[in-house]
Amino acid sequence: MFKPVATRAAQRFTSAPHVATLGRRYVHAPIAFDWKDPLGASNLYTEEELAIAETAESYCQERMLPRVLEAYRNENYDRKILEEMGELGLLGSTIEGYDCAGVSSVASGLITRAVERVDSGYRSGMSVQSALVMGGIDEFGTAEQKEKYLPGMAKGKILGCFGLTEPNHGSDPGSMESMAKPHPTKKGYYSLSGAKTWITNSPIADVLLIWAKLQETGKIRGFLIEREKCPPGTLDTPPLKNKNGLRASITGMVQMDEVPVPQENMFPDVEGLRGPFSCLNTARYGIAWGTIGALEDCIARAREYALGRTQFKNNPIAKYQLVQKKLSDATTDAAYGILAAYQVGRLKDEGKLAPEMISMVKRQNCDRALVNARKYV
Ligand SMILES: Cc1cc2nc3c(=O)[nH]c(=O)nc-3n(C[C@H](O)[C@H](O)[C@H](O)COP(=O)(O)OP(=O)(O)OC[C@H]3O[C@@H](n4cnc5c(N)ncnc54)[C@H](O)[C@@H]3O)c2cc1C
Repeated sequence: MFKPVATRAAQRFTSAPHVATLGRRYVHAPIAFDWKDPLGASNLYTEEELAIAETAESYCQERMLPRVLEAYRNENYDRKILEEMGELGLLGSTIEGYDCAGVSSVASGLITRAVERVDSGYRSGMSVQSALVMGGIDEFGTAEQKEKYLPGMAKGKILGCFGLTEPNHGSDPGSMESMAKPHPTKKGYYSLSGAKTWITNSPIADVLLIWAKLQETGKIRGFLIEREKCPPGTLDTPPLKNKNGLRASITGMVQMDEVPVPQENMFPDVEGLRGPFSCLNTARYGIAWGTIGALEDCIARAREYALGRTQFKNNPIAKYQLVQKKLSDATTDAAYGILAAYQVGRLKDEGKLAPEMISMVKRQNCDRALVNARKYV
């Protein structure tokens, strides 16, 4: 007979080897506390998500980590990293089809966490490719645009950048000045002019997703500019050097002087800020996971140092309560942050997500990661 889920779950629970039943109380063998997963979040992930997390962790620790010091010191971003990620299926991972992995939002969060455990700049480069550009094309592009760009982007062979911010309009992108008007000589083309700044990956991007106002309507639209099709002198993407942070990512400007863009390279339907903000939501969701990855790395390093560093009659400094307090605060914040990001990821896939949830979890996790990381410096 078909048994109610609750009864079957209870049977599984009591027949597990570590559990005995005493009347209605369940008595467990003691469970060891795992400082790397303090609230047992890994019990919530599917087998597939656990396998993806392991692949991402191994890649990031074994192949990215050895390169990060040089990349950070010299602001030297190796574009091969995106190709390597592409080979492992880590780019645009939630997209269905087009050679993308089609995994859950939680799995994509676990990938982002693994990348930012190594470096926030590397995470930034990946977020732009995956969430901002591939995500934008997948959500708003035509069938032809998807076929043309997504498979190459999933493999990291085509690199993208996302141009919203302008020199005069950062927090207020609705006032942007970049403009698309009918091309004066080329039929079926727009002519794009304007400037974007602080654009991750712009100096190395093959395809540039640029948000600009359509002159006819005054509404913001998305345009895909292919670098190799731009006539000389119409497009320049100079790097911005000497950043104080995110140094392992490459950042630049996009200067457009009557760039000819075929009409079929405009996103067909989306108008206004809904387009860029929707892409940014997915990227911001990733940041909620990524920042906790960075914090977890700080915790692991601080813990190792505190256990090995001896002071005051040869005692490890981890023995002292002021040090323990910092570690336990950070560990608690990281554990809460992961559970919150997990919940938002599940709701995202179930179609129950309000964008404000992403704002909350991103803001909170960034704040906790910063506050706790700074305590160890
Ligand atoms: C490393 C890096 C990479 C980036 N990559 C990209 C990218 O790939 N694509 C892209 O389009 N952009 C990118 N940006 C731009 C980024 O998104 C902008 O910096 C951001 O939108 C803020 O704009 P702004 O820097 O001009 O700040 P401003 O708008 O000048 O704001 C300055 C400060 O004032 C505060 N402020 C502004 N308005 C208000 C208000 N109403 N109330 C309270 N406080 C306010 C802001 O929070 C901020 O702290 C990147 C930036 C950096 C640093």
